[in-house]
Amino acid sequence: MTADITAAPALSAPALEAVVDLDAIAHNVGVLRERAGADVMAVVKADGYGHGAVEVGHAALAAGARALGVATVTEALALRAGGVVAPVLAWLHSSATDFAAAVAADIDIAVSSTAHLDAVVTAARGLGRTATVTIKIDTGLARNGVGPADWPDLRDAVATAVAEGSIVLGGMMCHLAHGDTPDHPLNDSQAARLDACVAEMARLGVRPQTVHISNSAAALTRPDLSRDLVRPGIAVYGLSPLPHGFDDLPLIPAMTLTAEVVMVKAVPAGQGVSYAHTWTAPHDTTLGLLPAGYADGVPRLLSNRLRVRIGDRVYPGVGRVCMDQMVVDLGADTTVREGDRAELFGRGTQGGPTATEWADTIGTIDYEIVSGIRGRTVRRHRGGPQSGSTR
Ligand SMILES: *Cc1c(COP(=O)(O)O)cnc(C)c1O
Repeated sequence: MTADITAAPALSAPALEAVVDLDAIAHNVGVLRERAGADVMAVVKADGYGHGAVEVGHAALAAGARALGVATVTEALALRAGGVVAPVLAWLHSSATDFAAAVAADIDIAVSSTAHLDAVVTAARGLGRTATVTIKIDTGLARNGVGPADWPDLRDAVATAVAEGSIVLGGMMCHLAHGDTPDHPLNDSQAARLDACVAEMARLGVRPQTVHISNSAAALTRPDLSRDLVRPGIAVYGLSPLPHGFDDLPLIPAMTLTAEVVMVKAVPAGQGVSYAHTWTAPHDTTLGLLPAGYADGVPRLLSNRLRVRIGDRVYPGVGRVCMDQMVVDLGADTTVREGDRAELFGRGTQGGPTATEWADTIGTIDYEIVSGIRGRTVRRHRGGPQSGSTR
């Protein structure tokens, strides 16, 4: 190794790195469009499920997505600041939401109540602009969205606001409670309820520009529920929202989390490892230390229950996952050296671990794993629209 390279630490990978493959994002958007038979609104809330909302947003749009969806107006404005000019929808608001900023930035605002609508109309009038509004209807999830009791008032108020020119109706939407159970009867009744509301609006002379229902699970399995758009999130990132049995989906996980092996040391049989010595070396062995802990999003519940891939071999995590570090058992005569990289999760190639495996192990969903990667993790993007790479 030349002195030049060792003298250039900036060129080496960060100690803990999440690489997001934007070509995988593009591939997954293509899979979703084809499966759903509809245009895609890629959901990039929560900083793109931990993958970077702006970068993923640009990659998804370049791959043919027509719009982006986020929860809050703050998230929507961050996309605009990041250069996104495509339609952006935001659907979760509070008394602090700056609707004027949203209208000024041409954000489609999903309203769940007449109070939201009134605030948007006031903002639009104040700016002398027309706001784009989507009606979010609670067709059975019982989360946000307008419920049956308040629907007639909101319907009539929207019709009035459209007639006076303060808003245009960008869309009507609902969100499924049982999308990951494709044959659940509630999926059909939720769609029927939304369609009935659309028909009621039409009788008042107002037609939404788009109607949309499907999350990732429905986009992948229920093309009959696709209306004008589908709203996938998790599948854009290459993870499946469906129970095992749908494992053959051609999605590519976009995020790979790796850490440097920062220390390698031999320990004798009987040596307890990490806090409370919850693991004891059964024989003389070698330990590898990784600078990744629960403050970085590695769940402490994975203590003694995870595996990492180094090269073409997989090694068990041993002892407690701590705030900043964790330990793997490399075995008695290991070839692993300090400076090697360990894959904590990724595509699952070469028998390596996945975010889904972590989630299954501790009884959660991979959404929580990838959106929870944080702390000292350095995120890097590769591929994507500017790279000229092809797949
Ligand atoms: C998060 C969210 C989605 C995306 O759900 P996935 O299961 O990640 O596909 C779609 N629509 C709404 C309203 C959401 O809140």
